[in-house]
This record gives sequence, C-alpha cells and structure tokens, in this order.
Amino acid sequence: MSDHNQVKITKMDFSGKRPKSENPLKVQDLTFRDGHQSLFATRGRTEDMIPIAEMMDEVGFWALETWGGATFDAMHRFLNEDPWERIRTLKRYIKKTRFSMLLRGQNLVGYRNYADDVAKAFVERAAHNGIDIFRTFDALNDYRNFETVFSVIKECGKHFQGCICYSLTEKRMGGEVYNLEYYVKKANELEAMEANSICIKDMAGLMAPYDAYVLVKALKEAVSIPIHLHSHFTSGMSSMTHLKAVEAGVDILGTCMSPYGFRSSHPAIGPLVVTLMGTNRDTCFDIKLLSSINEILEKGILPKYRYLLDDTKVSIIDTNVLVHQIPGGMLSNLVNQLREMDALDKLDKVYAELPKVRKDLGQVPLVTPMSQIVATQAINNVLFDDEKEHYKMITVQVKDLCYGLYGKTPVPINPKIQKKALKDYSRGEKPITCKPAEVIEPELDKAKEDVKGLAVDLEDVLIYALYPVTGKRFLKWKYGKEEPPKEARPRTMEDVKTEQELIAKARAGKLVEKKEKAAPAKGENLRTFNVFVDDEYFEVGVEEIGGSPIVNYIRQTQSHMPQSPVTVVPSVHVLPEAPKALEATPSSDSPAIPAKSTITASKKAESDTEGTQLKAPMPGIIVSYKKQVGDSVNPGETVVILEAMKMENALPAPAGGTIKSINFANGDSVARNDVLCVIG
Ligand code: MN
Repeated sequence: MSDHNQVKITKMDFSGKRPKSENPLKVQDLTFRDGHQSLFATRGRTEDMIPIAEMMDEVGFWALETWGGATFDAMHRFLNEDPWERIRTLKRYIKKTRFSMLLRGQNLVGYRNYADDVAKAFVERAAHNGIDIFRTFDALNDYRNFETVFSVIKECGKHFQGCICYSLTEKRMGGEVYNLEYYVKKANELEAMEANSICIKDMAGLMAPYDAYVLVKALKEAVSIPIHLHSHFTSGMSSMTHLKAVEAGVDILGTCMSPYGFRSSHPAIGPLVVTLMGTNRDTCFDIKLLSSINEILEKGILPKYRYLLDDTKVSIIDTNVLVHQIPGGMLSNLVNQLREMDALDKLDKVYAELPKVRKDLGQVPLVTPMSQIVATQAINNVLFDDEKEHYKMITVQVKDLCYGLYGKTPVPINPKIQKKALKDYSRGEKPITCKPAEVIEPELDKAKEDVKGLAVDLEDVLIYALYPVTGKRFLKWKYGKEEPPKEARPRTMEDVKTEQELIAKARAGKLVEKKEKAAPAKGENLRTFNVFVDDEYFEVGVEEIGGSPIVNYIRQTQSHMPQSPVTVVPSVHVLPEAPKALEATPSSDSPAIPAKSTITASKKAESDTEGTQLKAPMPGIIVSYKKQVGDSVNPGETVVILEAMKMENALPAPAGGTIKSINFANGDSVARNDVLCVIG
C-alpha cells in the first residue's frame, strides 16, 4: 500500500475549526439508486429526490449513484416514469457532483447480453444525458463482456470503473474458486484493460472485515488504480468491513443517507464521517448538512415509502445470509415467487437445491441476473422434477448460460446438465467459447421497425429494445395511447395521513366492527366465481336459494397488486343487483358481458374445447406463442414462452396433436393454472 492512504491519527481540533485533511476518503452516495433499490423495491420517484438534490450536491461526494441496476426496469414498469428523464431532471439540480450509474456490462440494465449495436447506443445516450462514471460489472466476472461498453465509455470521455463481483463458495474468502489469487488476477485484468478504477462489489454483504483487510491490501499492492469498496449491510458486517478497508488503504467507499441505509442497503454516511474525524482520512463532510438532509427525508419523503419496508421483523440484519449465503434480494424474490405458486412450504427444499444448481451451473456469482437464473431453476427443479427426470423444466436463460451466451463461468458447467439443456436449442447444441456478443445478431434496426410510429427518439427505441413487453406498454402510456394503471400513480403525503388517522383510530379502539351474520351451511348447488373489483380479487361462492342468488361467502385472495399497509376488508355487498362495479374475467377477447349473466366464471375456456390443456404452471406474462391454432405439435415441443420472475420458461406441449384453441395474446398476464391453450 502506498503510505499515502495509511490512516494516521492527527490532532483533534475542538476550537470549532476543522482542518482540511491530508487525504480525505472519497465517498460515493448510493441513496438515489441502491438505497431505494435495496429497501423500497426500487420504487423511489424522481419527485422525491428533488427536495434534497441541491443539498446533496453540497456535501462533497466523489459521486452520486443515480441510475442503473433495477431503476430503469422499475421506473418504466411500475412508476410510469421515463428513466432517461430522471438523469436530465437531477442534472438540473446537481451541477457539481458527478453522476454514476451501475451498468451490467453487456447486459446493460437488463437480464441478458444485448447485441453490440444496442449496447453502443445505450451507453452513448447514457453518457450524453449526464452519466459520468460507469460502475460496470459482469455477473460471471467475464471481462470480455466489458469490451464493447468500455470503448464507448472511453470515446465519450467518461470514467470506466470495472467491478469484481465478490462471491464465496465457503464461509469466508478462500477455497478453490473465490480465493485471494482469483481477486488479484481479476484486478490485474481490469488494470490491463485501462480501467480508471476498480470496485469490489459485495452485493450480498458477505465480505467479512478481516477478509476485506487482506483483500484491499493485496489489491493496493497489485494495482495502482483506485480501489472502491461497495459492501451491503445485509449480514450486519459492512460497517466493520468498511473500517477495516479504510485501514487497509481503500480509496472510495459507498454509503447512503441514513433513512436509506442499513438492512439490505449500505452503512450510513454519518457514522463514517465522525469515525474518521481527527485522522488524515477525514471526509471533511459537514455533519450538520447531512443531518438536515436526513430530516427532510424522514419527515417529508420516507413516510410515503415506509409501507414497502419489511415490517414483519424487528431485526435489521439478516442472519440467514451468514448461514446459507442467499442474498437478501434473491431471498425475497424466492419467497414471493413460491407464495404466488402456492408452494411456500417448499422453501426448505429450494434452499437445499440452490447450492446444487449453482454448482451444476459453474459456481456463478449470485448477482443479477445469475441470482435470478439460479433461483428460478432451483424452484423449477423442486416443483416440477420427479423421480424419473431431473431438470425437467429448464428456463430459456439456463439454456443460454449453458450455450455460453452469458460468457465463461468461473468453473465449467456440469456436462450432463449442459447437454440436456442444449438439446434442440435454437442456436445449436455445441456451446460457444467466443465472446457472447460475437454471436448475437444486431437488434437495433428491428427494434426501430417494431416501434415505428410509437417511439419518437432513440431513447424510446432503447426502452423497447431492452424491455420489449413492458417497454412497449410504457411507450403507450407515455404518448397517451393507453391509460396507465391506477397503481402507477405516486402515493402522496395526504394518502399517508389518511392511513395514519385510520391506524390511530384503530389503536384507540374507535373503529367500529360490523357484526357478521352467521353464514348458512353451503349447499350442493354452490358455485365458485372469481370476481375482480379494480385491483382487488375475490373468490365468491354463489348458491341459488328460492329463485334469487345470494352471496354465500366472500374471501379476499392474494392480489397481484402491492398491498397497502391497512387492509380494509370490504363489507359483503356484492349483490347481483349491482353488477356494474364487477368486471368479469378472464380473457380480454371475450365478448361484452351479456346483460343477463352478471358474473361470469373465470377460466371459462376450460370447458370450451375438448382436448389436453396446457396450464400456466406459475403466474406470469405471455412472451409469445410459438404455435398458432391449427398447427400440429409433438409432445414436449415448445408451445408458449412464459415470463415469470423475469425468467422465460419454454412451456412444452403436454401431449401431441393439433392446437385447438389459444386463450391469451402476447403480453397478457396470466394466473397460475390458467389454460393457455388446448391440444386435441
Ligand atoms: Mn449494490
């Protein structure tokens, strides 16, 4: 280590003047990106960043991370916000501090490697709109996936920061794959490609403080470019890890403003500032300024997001990570997916399957998109495998990985699984060893053609090129061709106030409960219907007694929409006389509801056509049907691609025959067990 970064205690000055330190530690603030991504499902809105933007610019951060990762996805998918507009808006308030983005190498801000033409256009537009530092990672640490974006970043005169994804196969750094030599070799590769700095990306908070010390010290000796540590708090270690990294001579650390810190996010900036006071690495940040920013966030902003915090636990650390090392984000995805599939009881089996799948797939780092790929495949194995067949439903992404489309895995993929995955794979059965982008055909011209008349500029086209289904839907919202859904609207402080008043009333015992009548016994003629009222979904039992139908029971079922913290159970007044509020389901192409039948049963298609049904094994979005009505199919042949948990599943024909009916269209959302098509 250069002596320059060695921590030295200087004299504390209590006279009120704080001398400028000799070599201040540099800090990247992550509030605007990783902070809300880690704690609030990336739902942070631009309007909630503006109130503190100018103050954040005064702190003296090395950079503000404002973009990338899941922001691009969540903004256009859930918030009805143009991701490009966020950079431009924040730039108007933040004039001094550089903007940083997290770039997933050739995956850009998506979940697969895109073609070079899309990658070049994307980076060029990001730089043009105001991104100064590209914190770039590849989920396999395969730096061939940096080559294209690297050259554009350099051409644009911007800072290229190369990440090393920090991963473990053991409890601590070491073992056969992720040992000190591995990390030093990766750092050497990055320096050789002329990266401007190196970031150790500890996305799951697995880095132990003494490993950080050894690692940072070794990297400082091995390379001469600055070392940045990005470590998540998840396990509770990262404040200690940060301090040991400072002692080992780290150049840059990543932190958040305190309301966006801790839990699965990052340590807060305040404690670090005070810790380093009186040393040569003092950040020299104004602690009063930091606390006034925190106060604005606490009072005026965070109440709107609080409902997204996991308030089922008091503990702010996830000791599970120390036990089975499944990163927090991956864990919550897993649990959600299993819950939607009614299979939460299988969680322990999935935990046991995960390390096996990871090993089969080449001990990949558990970072986006590899974490989702491994998790989804583990779920599929647990739910769909039987004694006869292992890896019965392989996702398209696992096939791509086996083919080499993501790059080179840290250790080779299990050849048996690789062979099975690549059987009838569209690009060929022999995996590639070249850089993935070399075999990906250009995509930009086709994307332009696809959204002709809808997209106005290249940035619009890129939204579609990266996210064809949700991107196109967003462009329709943006240009008023389709009404955005109610839940895409921001929550206001008024909403929060109304809720808080309700909660206060409930606590004071002032909410009057309606007396419920005892339900009569269910009879033989009971029929069950799915009823959708706005974004709520009810299962309703209807039975005819003495001529007029009465509602027998009503049960609120899990809705697809985010739950509000106060769940108001509607009183039972779903009577046939008031049918207008009810929306019959399911298919969008079903004719208008006949006046006589006020409630139409869901999945009516089930009884329409005789034959073998292909049902959705999980809730998701139809990416595309590979067959049309009248086409013949062989058993096992792919009929439809279903996107679930951001992975694409090729659903095979359960039987051979002719496609008799297709019940949904591309882009439709489907529930588990919906009949996607009938083969006869
Ligand atoms: Mn992170």
